[in-house]
Amino acid sequence: MDLKDLYRDVILDHNRQPRNFGALAHSDAHAEGHNPLCGDRLTVWLRFEGDRIADIRFEGKGCAISTASASLMTEAVKGRDKAAIKELYDRIHVLLTEPHAAADASLGKLAALGGVSEFPARVKCATLCWHTLNAALEHSADAVSTEE
Ligand code: ZN
Repeated sequence: MDLKDLYRDVILDHNRQPRNFGALAHSDAHAEGHNPLCGDRLTVWLRFEGDRIADIRFEGKGCAISTASASLMTEAVKGRDKAAIKELYDRIHVLLTEPHAAADASLGKLAALGGVSEFPARVKCATLCWHTLNAALEHSADAVSTEE
């Protein structure tokens, strides 16, 4: 099995069985995101402990990339503080937008999204959850769209 098969399996697995899926009771913040180009919609809920995300859940309807990306994101950011999340997102953005960017070993399973860089139209599917997370971190009650 080569790396591409492995990455595809991670995406399919997280699409079929999204982790941390469903509304979070007693959340401190939430935001909604929409990617009109593909029709992806999702809501992200957060619970904080100080500056850290103690719990995160999401719910939504979208393509396999948007669902898998959100599922992988919730696993990756739980327990991290805002500065660490911003730093992680910066590395994900490079992975998603620069074809042939070397996958950073520290990205773990998120590296599975690297194949998206070959399909520029799908990049917004993969980044929607991160924009939505950011809106929730900013305590913005407004819905975010990838087309603004
Ligand atoms: Zn999509």
